Amino acid sequence: MNKFGFTTQESRAIDYGQFDDRLLSYVQHHEPTFLICMSCGACTATCSAGNLIDFNIRRLSLLIRRGEILQLSNEIDKCMLCGKCTLVCPRGINTRNVIMLIKKGISQIKQSENQN
Ligand code: SF4
Ligand code: SF4
Repeated sequence: MNKFGFTTQESRAIDYGQFDDRLLSYVQHHEPTFLICMSCGACTATCSAGNLIDFNIRRLSLLIRRGEILQLSNEIDKCMLCGKCTLVCPRGINTRNVIMLIKKGISQIKQSENQN
C-alpha cells in the first residue's frame, strides 16, 4: 500500500506555564540590544557558517524566545564566531556577543542542573 505524503505535526504553541525563560532573561540582561531585533534576516544572509552548513542565526533567536535550550545547545557550536553578522545588523545588535552569552548561559544552566 502506498504511504500518504502528509503527517500531522506537533503543536508549536508555547505553554507559558511551562516556558523556560532562563536563557532569554540571561541574554537580555547582559546584552539588552537583543530586545530590538526585528527579525530582518540580514545576519542569516551573511553568516559564514550558514553559507557552508545547515545553520541559521535567526532561528537561534527564535529558539531562545521559545525557551528551547536543548535544541540551542545542539546548534550553537556551529557558529564560527567570525562576527560578520554583527557588522551587517541594521539595529546594531552585538550578535556575536549574543552567541557568546548563549554558550555561557547554557553552560551555567547545565552546571546548576547537575548540582541539583
Ligand atoms: S540582522 Fe539584526 S535585526 Fe536583523 S535579524 Fe539579525 S539580529 Fe535581528
Ligand atoms: S559570528 Fe557566527 S552567526 Fe555570526 S556570521 Fe559568523 S558564523 Fe555566522
